[in-house]
Amino acid sequence: MTFFEYSHKFVIRRPSVSQPKFVFVSGGVISGLGKGITTASLSAILEAKGYKVSPMKVDMYLNQDAGTIRPSEHGEVYVTEDGLESDQDLGNYERFIGRPLSRANYMTTGQVYTEVLRKERAFEYEGEDVEAIPHVTDEIIRRFDKAGEGADVVIVELGGTVGEYQNGIFFEAARLMKLHRPADIIHVHVAFLPIPGNLGEMKTKPVQQSVRLLNSMGIQPEFVVGRSSQAMDDKRKERISLFCGIPKEAVISNPDVGSIYEIPLLLEEQRLGDMVCEKLGLKNRKSKLEPWMKMVDHITKSTKEVNIGVVGKYFGTGAYTLSDVYISVIESLKHAGWSEGVKPVLHWIDSTALEQIQTDGAGKFLDGHDGIVVPGGFGSRGIEGIIEAIRYAREKKIPYLGLCYGMQLATIELARYVAHLDQAHTTEVMTDSPNPIIHVMPEQEKKMLKKEYGGTMRLGAWPCVLTKGTKLHEAYGADQIIERHRHRYEFNNAYRDVLQKAGLIIAGTTPDGQLVEAIELRDHPFFIGVQYHPEFLSTPLKPHPLFAAFIRAAIKQIR
Ligand code: GLN
Repeated sequence: MTFFEYSHKFVIRRPSVSQPKFVFVSGGVISGLGKGITTASLSAILEAKGYKVSPMKVDMYLNQDAGTIRPSEHGEVYVTEDGLESDQDLGNYERFIGRPLSRANYMTTGQVYTEVLRKERAFEYEGEDVEAIPHVTDEIIRRFDKAGEGADVVIVELGGTVGEYQNGIFFEAARLMKLHRPADIIHVHVAFLPIPGNLGEMKTKPVQQSVRLLNSMGIQPEFVVGRSSQAMDDKRKERISLFCGIPKEAVISNPDVGSIYEIPLLLEEQRLGDMVCEKLGLKNRKSKLEPWMKMVDHITKSTKEVNIGVVGKYFGTGAYTLSDVYISVIESLKHAGWSEGVKPVLHWIDSTALEQIQTDGAGKFLDGHDGIVVPGGFGSRGIEGIIEAIRYAREKKIPYLGLCYGMQLATIELARYVAHLDQAHTTEVMTDSPNPIIHVMPEQEKKMLKKEYGGTMRLGAWPCVLTKGTKLHEAYGADQIIERHRHRYEFNNAYRDVLQKAGLIIAGTTPDGQLVEAIELRDHPFFIGVQYHPEFLSTPLKPHPLFAAFIRAAIKQIR
């Protein structure tokens, strides 16, 4: 048997229908390097060259999706238009390319094994013994190809760092792809260059070792992106070039910068996009990055500060503050701020701390804020603190934006303190509340009784009809919108009348009028709650109209 026949038998059984190009982005030395931003930035550059890019994230855990992982563990759960609960990196990709992605852009070990085991039970392997290679790698490659349908280039971010036991199979699948389509596949390795305090000098050895580790898996990267606090000088580039066998110009410097949106420009300056095109045999067109340049320029010029309090429970992790859980909300506030010519200064307010204090003490935490945001959340921890913050925003007439749980808790606050339904609650927290203002959707209840938790919430894009004459309608300038959802509970229609009498305005519903999707308050400069997550639709080049309206209201508060 020839080598080709051998490898063909064991490796690729199904030829790809379309033949897009592939860029695999791996990471080394430490995690949390910004492989996602590198992937997103390169995607933006190639899109600016007129190529259709499909960025894809591969996660090594056995969960089917990110929906069942604790946010403090994994960061934000980003919801795609087609309702997948995915990794937050998909959010970065969408923000950088300005186009919705789908389920095909996200793969976990869990998805891969589930499919392989399903096929085995269905006798689809026709009596073969089912093995990691080729069956699992085949399934991985099938998913890579799926992400490439209709695209010119797929950029696959391999989760984790090189050398981890758990992600090796994905590297192997990438190696196999290159074996069969050498001209169509390249590897970019993103690795960290430390500057130890006692030496004060940037060290390249960890990068060299990381590339060696990649080599030991049969992969030679075409590019190395060096992440560091400072820019890499010529000497370091030469060392990496020499020891890693990469041309010096293919060693790219990616230092810390003020805003992640500067990175496409930084990589473009070093001709990464041009060189990637050359390597992949793609026609090197000029990158039309002018809108990015303008946007980045705008960021630097927006210096007037607007202070926004973000109230949530997921900020604390040991001695550190973790804001990753709210990354899309944070980015949306920044996009909107910059577009309105201001610099949003965000203050993390831990709702569990807010809960500890007496009612009249909320001001200690909230005074001086020009706007208050309550993002999505689950469960009971910290919610009395959030309700206090909402009460403060309502009574002091501070612009308020409630997202998902932030809308639900705002209606509870109104029910308790204006409509005097003292025990008003959500059945998520108080199952036997005499005033279940927020209750579980009937089809959701059935799923929960059967313990069908994964991927079963009301997810993805749904239409919403806006009520004319509301601030929400004015913000969007549209009668109907489509926004993304992720929730099990909803506004209880039995309380529409009583809460409307207390000052509630139903600002948006499903087209059949059955589900309340948005609320606002009468006699308040800006108090809006939405059942959906507008933060999943904001991009730096196209800030979301609702966030922009909120920021404009907050600007009016600046004294
Ligand atoms: N916990 C609430 C629900 O499930 C809100 C969810 C959210 O904020 N994403 O309905």
